[in-house]
Amino acid sequence: MSEDIQTLKDHYELAIVGCGPAGMAAALNAKIRNRDFILLGSEFCSPKLSKAPQIDNWLGFPEISGEDLRQRFLNHLREKDIPIVPFKITNIYPGPPFTLVGKEKSLEADALILATGVSISKLFPGEAELLGLGLGYCATCDGPLYKNKRTAIISYNQEGEDEANFMANICSKVYYIPYYSNPLQLDSRVEVKKSKVQGIIGSQSVEKLDFGEEQLAVDGVFIIRENLPAEQLVSGLEMENGSIKVNHNLETNLPGLFAAGDCTGQPYQLIKAAGEGGTAALQAVKYLDSLNSPERKAQGGTVFSENTLASR
Ligand SMILES: Cc1cc2nc3c(=O)[nH]c(=O)nc-3n(C[C@H](O)[C@H](O)[C@H](O)COP(=O)(O)OP(=O)(O)OC[C@H]3O[C@@H](n4cnc5c(N)ncnc54)[C@H](O)[C@@H]3O)c2cc1C
Repeated sequence: MSEDIQTLKDHYELAIVGCGPAGMAAALNAKIRNRDFILLGSEFCSPKLSKAPQIDNWLGFPEISGEDLRQRFLNHLREKDIPIVPFKITNIYPGPPFTLVGKEKSLEADALILATGVSISKLFPGEAELLGLGLGYCATCDGPLYKNKRTAIISYNQEGEDEANFMANICSKVYYIPYYSNPLQLDSRVEVKKSKVQGIIGSQSVEKLDFGEEQLAVDGVFIIRENLPAEQLVSGLEMENGSIKVNHNLETNLPGLFAAGDCTGQPYQLIKAAGEGGTAALQAVKYLDSLNSPERKAQGGTVFSENTLASR
């Protein structure tokens, strides 16, 4: 059901980032509305959903396990011929069109739905300030900038091991700081540090990693998490209490950008995630239609929404 990244188009009407219940529900509605869209995430869809031992609050399926529900969701997408593209987005430049950047490719979309779930790990001190100044979320994307330099990869999962091994071919030194047990597949040139990071230090750019008892001189730091904090993914995105701020139409403060599911805040529940995903897709379709309306074209294409965040 997945698609080869290299065969993707460069531009879509709508991109949906995240393929948990919110992203899948959004994709289903976009498909039914016959829009040109892409669903990005991982083929597994939602690790969170599969971990739920028993779900009692999903209407019509009493006591279903999370794993059974996950399989049902994936089958539904298969039946509707909706591929999940296994592609992690590490940066989004506001649009429209939005530019979505990942490891292997970047692509554009006129409208965007963020359905990335909730990021449980807190930002490290210095992370927000040094983003783009030697700090990033995709080592392989920026690798050549660090030729013969020292880098550190802080990783919450095994995905970081590939990144570290790639950087070992380029950098003079690569440190690996795992936030999970037993990293397995590391190149012998990569040095593992088991201490916890207290902060990332630098004035104009990254200079050091602070472990409290020790400071390590580095030129670049990459942080690999399952879910990137939304405000780090899209600059200028308005947040509220750690979640993406949306109105009842799931609009964010950035025109054309919608958000759905756990990433918009509590309650963290399936039915809310799926409901918001469906609504966000319908609102995105309205937005896309408005882009092509004669009225909007006459205005120079700058105005949308009777329902901005101010109307919340
Ligand atoms: C143990 C457990 C039990 C639970 N039990 C229940 C229950 O009984 N009832 C209930 O209603 N809810 C339950 N939940 C909560 C429910 O699972 C979540 O509310 C739901 O999964 C949220 O869906 P979502 O689509 O918003 O996010 P998620 O399911 O977290 O999906 C987000 C997806 O986006 C992907 N993604 C993130 N960032 C990117 C990126 N940059 N690029 C590409 N893809 C990205 C992630 O890999 C993930 O696949 C439970 C959760 C857990 C952990």
